[in-house]
Amino acid sequence: MFKPLDLGFTRLKNRVVMGSMHTGLEDIVGGYKKLAAFYAERARGGVGLIVTGGVSPDFCGQVSLPSARLSHWWQLYRHRRMTTAVHEAGAKICLQLLHAGRYAFHPFAVAPSAIKAPISRFRPRAMSQRKIEKTINAYVHSAVLAKRAGYDGVEIMGSEGYLINQFICKHTNERDDQWGGSYENRIRFALEIVQQTRQAVGRDFIIIYRLSMLDLLEDGSDWQEITHLAREIEKAGATLINTGIGWHEVRIPTIAAMVPRAAFTWVTARLKDVVSVPLITSNRINMPEQVEQALADGDADMVSMARPFLADPDFMLKASQGKRSRINTCIACNQGCLDKVFNKQRASCLVNPRACYETELSPGVASITKKIIVIGLGPAGMACATAAAQRGHMVTAYDLNGIGGQLNYAVRIPGKQEFNETLRYFRHAMEDNDVVVKTGETLTARQIKATECDAVVIATGVKPRMPQIEGIDHESVVSYIDVITQKVAPGKRVAIIGAGGIGFDVATLLIDNEQSQNREGWLKSWNIDIEYNRRGGLLVEQAENKSGRKIYLLQRKQTKPGKSLGKTTGWIHRVRLRQAGVEMLSGVCYEKINDQGLFIHHQKQSRLLDVDQVIICAGQESNRNLADELHASGMLVHVIGGADKALELDAERAIRQGYELALKL
Ligand code: NAP
Ligand code: SF4
Repeated sequence: MFKPLDLGFTRLKNRVVMGSMHTGLEDIVGGYKKLAAFYAERARGGVGLIVTGGVSPDFCGQVSLPSARLSHWWQLYRHRRMTTAVHEAGAKICLQLLHAGRYAFHPFAVAPSAIKAPISRFRPRAMSQRKIEKTINAYVHSAVLAKRAGYDGVEIMGSEGYLINQFICKHTNERDDQWGGSYENRIRFALEIVQQTRQAVGRDFIIIYRLSMLDLLEDGSDWQEITHLAREIEKAGATLINTGIGWHEVRIPTIAAMVPRAAFTWVTARLKDVVSVPLITSNRINMPEQVEQALADGDADMVSMARPFLADPDFMLKASQGKRSRINTCIACNQGCLDKVFNKQRASCLVNPRACYETELSPGVASITKKIIVIGLGPAGMACATAAAQRGHMVTAYDLNGIGGQLNYAVRIPGKQEFNETLRYFRHAMEDNDVVVKTGETLTARQIKATECDAVVIATGVKPRMPQIEGIDHESVVSYIDVITQKVAPGKRVAIIGAGGIGFDVATLLIDNEQSQNREGWLKSWNIDIEYNRRGGLLVEQAENKSGRKIYLLQRKQTKPGKSLGKTTGWIHRVRLRQAGVEMLSGVCYEKINDQGLFIHHQKQSRLLDVDQVIICAGQESNRNLADELHASGMLVHVIGGADKALELDAERAIRQGYELALKL
């Protein structure tokens, strides 16, 4: 991964690309200054090439209004700030040109045909011949401006179902002119953009083409068409071809945590002997060993990672120094990054709250060294102890049960094993920064007062809520903790009370089958054909994902179960449970539990769910006895994480709160 790549007119210092990712900073006043700091930090961390978040070449192509666009000379200044910062830090940077087409969330959306996307409220206008020509010119003009702004190249986004992809696939292109009909006609738009851009920018400018190699659509491209397109794109003048997997509207996960690591490098590998330009592979690669493996196997010439650089800007530096165990690994949760962007907030990172806040959250060294006690080493406590110690404070941290808190349950859920990396990271980070970690013991309020420390942080977390239901003491009732930790064996017929994050986690644990853990089994379970025999790379036969266990997942609210789950991942959990035959009921009233099972009132009728086990996942309450005792005795303490507020707590909020407190101590 550290071998340079010679592109003829320029040289990349290593084989790793920081892939394109929208951060939300592009769309706010003063955002480009923050973006410059964000990218420069990743460049200093050793990545060879950075690709910016998507920037539209014209007004209609913006993802929403307003969002990033480069079409005028007066927009150059802010881009120059970024390119200069990245070059000074020793990396190269390309601007991604992305036209949303029918994925635009505004009424000016355009597309090859007026077919509405299932993920947008707006029906696009079909582009006229003149509009198509103007759009090609806009791409070319943006690329020329990008060169003037100091970019080393552009990435032309031709995948994930955006405009260029919409021209290529019949799914979205019903035209009968020279831009539709035959495959030759449908790829004309892509080829014209690449050809004309190459002509305009000259030879010494990188053009990456992001090619949709696996549409995952019933009427997506077939493999023969993809190889034809790749050859033509190379002829048109692309320097590198990057891998695109799946359209955004497709209900198959491609980057979420449940996708096995490096699950799609085989797709790039298929194209390896087809073209001679270097290929970039991507998707769910988050540690140096997958990068090395993909390169060593010859699957690709470069590897692209986006989110892993949010999680750790020094990924490359640490890898080069053999400090793999010190990398703060992206756990593919999407909670801190994509979910935020889709909610129109600034991206950050669950495991690294500083990401995209580089100019606002600077740890620095504290002016006075303090003696700090942290009680509780869940996510909030670990983040606070680590950051406080990094600032030079003397930190002693206690936890009766060892480090990790609720993360120790998360790692047992299929698809959430990546949290093990977070535990590993914090264990080392606390050790490296001389946090005195005392597990298996804690301090009472009296002992804390006797320590005469300068600050006390209470991060004692949460305890499960026990709802008031008749028969709640029945022997069939168990807590989610007992099921997750395998203290009790799961029943054959189970009712889960509470359909929040943990209810879904427990249901996933109970339906899981062995095959979903290995790459081939996982691909098959989502109907992906590794042999690529059909259009879109999908299998003919739908995989049989039924669970052998009867599961009810229940909530009192009338809303759709799982509504509180992440915007970009909630649908995956719902689809998976539905496939497994889990019955999800909303608007439930719990009546009683006895030997017969769980009695509920649902849709104006009483109903008996004849289950042999009732698992309580009814949310959490703050574990704050110690904090209250200290407050009552007049001591000022800092309360963070679940101990502070249990409602809607997740690891993202806990880690951010712990980190931000440490910066103030
Ligand atoms: P939660 O998401 O708040 O869900 C609690 C569930 O219990 C709700 O479905 C609620 O629905 C039900 N409930 C609440 N009070 C009840 C009562 N008195 N009787 C019966 N049911 C009751 O909490 P959680 O599942 O414990 O998760 C804790 C936190 O971790 C959440 O913030 C969650 O988002 C986060 N987490 C996230 C994920 C993820 O995938 N992103 C995974 C795990 C955990 P009704 O009130 O409608 O019955
Ligand atoms: Fe990765 Fe989660 Fe951080 Fe996003 S928020 S970069 S998915 S760890």
